Amino acid sequence: MNPLFANLPTTIFETMSGLSRELEAVNLGQGFPDFGWPEDVLDKAADAVRHGWNQYPSMSGLPELREAVAVHYARFQRLDLKPEEVTVTSGATEALAAAILGLVTPGDEVVLFEPAYDAYLPLIRQAGGIAKAVKLTPPDWKITEKALAEAFGPATRLVIFNNPLNPTGTVFSLDQLALIADACVRNDAVAICDEVWEHLVFDGHAQIPLMTLPGMRERTVKIGSAGKIFSLTGWKVGWTCAAPRLTAAIARAHQFLTFTTAPSLQTAVAYGLGKDDAYFTAMREGFARSRARMTDGLGAAGYALLPSDGTYFVSVDLNGSGIALDDMTFCHRAVREAGVAAIPVSSFYASDPVTNVVRLCFAKSDATVDKGLERLAKAR
Ligand code: PMP
Ligand code: GLN
Repeated sequence: MNPLFANLPTTIFETMSGLSRELEAVNLGQGFPDFGWPEDVLDKAADAVRHGWNQYPSMSGLPELREAVAVHYARFQRLDLKPEEVTVTSGATEALAAAILGLVTPGDEVVLFEPAYDAYLPLIRQAGGIAKAVKLTPPDWKITEKALAEAFGPATRLVIFNNPLNPTGTVFSLDQLALIADACVRNDAVAICDEVWEHLVFDGHAQIPLMTLPGMRERTVKIGSAGKIFSLTGWKVGWTCAAPRLTAAIARAHQFLTFTTAPSLQTAVAYGLGKDDAYFTAMREGFARSRARMTDGLGAAGYALLPSDGTYFVSVDLNGSGIALDDMTFCHRAVREAGVAAIPVSSFYASDPVTNVVRLCFAKSDATVDKGLERLAKAR
């Protein structure tokens, strides 16, 4: 086996979901909702399968979806994207792969922020890049100028940033984004900004696209995913949005990764992105209710929570909860002994991890949240 892969552990999401299936646990680990997808988007896909085009669509995506993505971001984020700047990919995962493989030259230094979504580091290595991690720590996961100055150098070509941040749920402020933008501009680096959680921000917080900061329009690759916007994570329809020179590099990699994505799903997503504001508001409010149910229940069970303003996730501080276990041990015991799966945040660090934080997914029906809470109460 290629040593690049042989030395990789199985992703924590598959590990925990596998254990959860095997042990018939309540799965509060992997981030997927078990309710709330829009029926009309499903109908549109079914109709497109039955009556639409089911052969290879054009490589960069159906024109109607590229247009719909541009219009969607003009409407919600005041971005001025042209459809030609949008590339449709098979999920944000492929968008990340196409952007990283397309833009990193072997030997380039790539700055990332840990805890980092688990796909980033292996992809940087596949591209021959050298990862430079900025370590973020609880409770506020703040980025400092000093940490950025240490990570950036003359060989920095790329930065990978995720906002809102999976696994912590942090929504970064304008000040924090400005630090990254300044570092990118000063070092002439490109930023890949993974914004798949952009619609899932709570308590009046706003998600600010990195692309809107001064100097960033031409040097940012914005990544989105229909899976999160429509609670259809298995669909794997994503996209990149980037200036033509970056889009050209992404296209070269994309053509030999997947080439295209199911046209019926693209048609349905194009339709869904045009849904009225009420859909997006109701989706956020629905998840906000589940989030409140989860945080109230965790509080009542004696768990201390860290601040979290977006995503499907909240995180528990084990130390603050009076639990003298590291996150990995806690999660393995919770799934085996209490029948509830969670994600240890230490998995999102390559070295020197934070080991006292556990991520829980609240994007579940009330019955599932309640059952999970009942079991978590016994896991401590
Ligand atoms: N990036 C982040 C930060 C994610 O959380 C996820 C999945 N939840 C992805 C990328 C992958 O998205 P997709 O399922 O569209 O490939
Ligand atoms: N992004 C999802 C999560 O954070 C899972 C994705 C995956 O299983 N690879 O839980």
